[in-house]
Amino acid sequence: MSDIALQTIDVTRDYHVGGTMFAKPRIVHALKGVSTEIERGKTLAIVGESGCGKSTLARIIALIDPPTSGTLLIDGQEIDIAHQRITHEMRGKVQIVFQNPYGSLNPRQKVGDILTEPLKLNTGLSAADRRMRAFDMLTKVGMMPEHYNRYPHMFSGGQRQRIAIARALMLNPSLLVLDEPVSALDLSVQAQILNLLADLQDEFGLTYVFVSHDLSVVRYIADEVMVMYFGEVVEHATRDAIFADPQHDYTKILFAATPRADVASIRARLAAKAAE
Ligand code: ADP
Ligand code: MG
Repeated sequence: MSDIALQTIDVTRDYHVGGTMFAKPRIVHALKGVSTEIERGKTLAIVGESGCGKSTLARIIALIDPPTSGTLLIDGQEIDIAHQRITHEMRGKVQIVFQNPYGSLNPRQKVGDILTEPLKLNTGLSAADRRMRAFDMLTKVGMMPEHYNRYPHMFSGGQRQRIAIARALMLNPSLLVLDEPVSALDLSVQAQILNLLADLQDEFGLTYVFVSHDLSVVRYIADEVMVMYFGEVVEHATRDAIFADPQHDYTKILFAATPRADVASIRARLAAKAAE
């Protein structure tokens, strides 16, 4: 196995929109040939303004949507969901967490069912084993076993995002796509979830593709940063290089325009890490 967890080669995605009796359908070129890669165990942050194609790329990487053209490799293996049957094994390798845990968790499902469902669909584990694994995962994301029988609406936004993260980890993925996972949360809760994600990454050796428009979050979580602009990659560098010396004019503007959010506990954790 190579050390590259994820690679995209010249991935494009067109959307056909509109098309009425009076107007011809229009083609939106959401991705115009995106080539990128990230090493196992690292975090690639994808940044850029709203509409630049971040979520489109996230869904392609997470095997939810097919690209219009181009190649996607996960753990060195080409995956083409448009023309290939996706095995349970491939499906389990990549999972996604969305921005809004209100929308992504079924309100009529108990937490236990939310967590065990992926195991039911993709593994031959017994009900007792599925339950054990769900209890275990609840603890790992900072929830409690007694939360198993509750419904999503009984939790705060941060707790719901913990549940969504737990669900994403149930199949032991190697790659986790996180599309603005803390953007809907209060700053203090953001810091807790980011810390949780950092801990889980260490524990499970996870590779993250982390979509964010918030550069203070990116600065904390990323090893590498890829900047997108209108469906194209304009810059890809290490976190330190891009913050110290952004090369592309667009990156300079983007980085200059973003206020530095003051997330106290993020600072504290960084300081603690540096002191280790
Ligand atoms: P981002 O996540 O960076 O805000 P998106 O990937 O959501 O960007 O969108 C990229 C472009 O593709 C935008 O112009 C958006 O309007 C368009 N787009 C995204 N999803 C669809 C869709 N399902 N149908 C048509 N156009 C879409
Ligand atoms: Mg988006």
